[in-house]
Amino acid sequence: MMKDLPKERLDMFCYQCSQTVAGNGCFMKGMCGKEPTVARLQDNLIFTIKGIAAYNYQANKLFARDEEVDEFVTKGMYTTLTNVNFDTNDLVQLGLDAGEASVKVMRLLKNAHIEAYGEPTPVEVNVGAQEGPAIIVTGHDLKALEELLKQCEGTGVNVYTHGEMLPAHGYPGLRKYSSLKGQLGGPWFDQKETFSKYNAVILATSNCVLLPKDDYKDRIYTSGVAKLPGVSQINDYDFAPLINQAKELGSLEAEELKTFTTGFGVSTILSLADKIKELVEGGKIKRFFLVGGCDAPMKTNNYYREFVKNLPEDTVVLTLACGKYKFNDLDLGDIEGVPRLIDMGQCNDAIAAVDVALALCDLFECELNDLPLTIVLSWMEQKAAAVLWALFYLGKKDMLIGPILPAWANDDIVKVLVDTYNLTPISDDPKEDIARIMGQ
Ligand code: SF4
Ligand code: SF4
Repeated sequence: MMKDLPKERLDMFCYQCSQTVAGNGCFMKGMCGKEPTVARLQDNLIFTIKGIAAYNYQANKLFARDEEVDEFVTKGMYTTLTNVNFDTNDLVQLGLDAGEASVKVMRLLKNAHIEAYGEPTPVEVNVGAQEGPAIIVTGHDLKALEELLKQCEGTGVNVYTHGEMLPAHGYPGLRKYSSLKGQLGGPWFDQKETFSKYNAVILATSNCVLLPKDDYKDRIYTSGVAKLPGVSQINDYDFAPLINQAKELGSLEAEELKTFTTGFGVSTILSLADKIKELVEGGKIKRFFLVGGCDAPMKTNNYYREFVKNLPEDTVVLTLACGKYKFNDLDLGDIEGVPRLIDMGQCNDAIAAVDVALALCDLFECELNDLPLTIVLSWMEQKAAAVLWALFYLGKKDMLIGPILPAWANDDIVKVLVDTYNLTPISDDPKEDIARIMGQ
């Protein structure tokens, strides 16, 4: 039985054809001759393509399409079919091609969001319940949020964001709706606690949605690709059942409010370009950090909070995706008007951070790897693979990754990533990592 095999014997796992060992799976080398590294690079490619598909799906919903991305998705998937591609080098190149497609699709989605809702600007978001019936929206689908907000206007039903929806508040075209009230809870994995706590209707629009607890199963709905067994699915953006149920549930009890700041777009940051140049050249900003990616409930993810907390005061942190919840309650202050903690949005907004980095390269007349910029990634799921390969495609070196290395990366793959990009696993000690980076 597969479950009895010691983990170290699982060099690979493939059960995609009838030749598979004993009808279970090839786990050391393929019956067809497929090597473990090839199998793992195929897995990597599939995970990366899933990330691309997630961004592409959201972009398509806003009528944005890129033929080259669509073609790559088809080609990339085809290369992983049985007995098509056994070439390790080609599969690494396909990973980089997937990185290129990730850059394109993230830009496609970002531009579609900006076209639909305007470029984000910084905003303080109230965190906590306010009086009135409520709907909580989680996931990444801004189009679903917009349609819900429209329908909630004038009904007295308040809409709150959760998880990766927080950056929605930054878009002028979304925060113009008075029904958009604030934020409840934090990252995706607190949803069981948050959704149980507030007697509100919930709309799950995308990943990362969890199987619901019984106590809120009758007041959660899904839309788009998100689906849960026994839970109503909303098609065509008709949210009347949610609004009616929210009214029936009645008002939430008002709580003491906190705030999160989000919504930094490329233009906002670049409006500070001259000041940033002056501060860097004057030695008042020593280094920029992009600390972002997925949040996860493991204790090891606390590394990211300790990392940001312990950064020297002459550093600036850009962040995006739900990894920010590890530290977005910290007040890092500013350096002569330049905020030290800059939330740029959802995981797909990695492209906005890339655009800021490229603009800084122009400003300082240097290459990407010569910028005083360190990227510290946390990863949990497969969209992060798309972002990681996008950064490899752009040639970014010296990134840190954690809290664990992606399981698809065996020793051979890790060696290539370390040799080529100096990709470094985070250590157990954030202060040690900071000292090493600052001493570079
Ligand atoms: S494709 Fe190769 S490695 Fe995969 S199940 Fe078939 S024989 Fe095994
Ligand atoms: S950033 Fe990653 S982990 Fe967080 S909600 Fe988005 S997809 Fe899920």
